[in-house]
Amino acid sequence: MAGILMMQGGSLRQTAQNLWHAQRIKRLVRDRLGHSAQGLVSVRETICMDPACEGPATEIRIVMLDFRETRVTIHKSLSQVSAVDIAEAF
Ligand SMILES: [Zn+2]
Repeated sequence: MAGILMMQGGSLRQTAQNLWHAQRIKRLVRDRLGHSAQGLVSVRETICMDPACEGPATEIRIVMLDFRETRVTIHKSLSQVSAVDIAEAF
């Protein structure tokens, strides 16, 4: 557990908040996609690979039951991703 916290470089409080937001975003994705989101939904905050963008990004990855994979990047931190972002992304 301590190792996970150190890897994320944040305080315990920050880590707890990120976990909470990741769960919130997963729920938004499942609500948006309905039963087509029966697969595995994973959400993580990542460094944006776009050189024109300086902010963090949220990566949402969905692996369907038939192993088709969808990956969406939203150019916001986990805590800023809203239902509107999810609706626009999917
Ligand atoms: Zn970005």
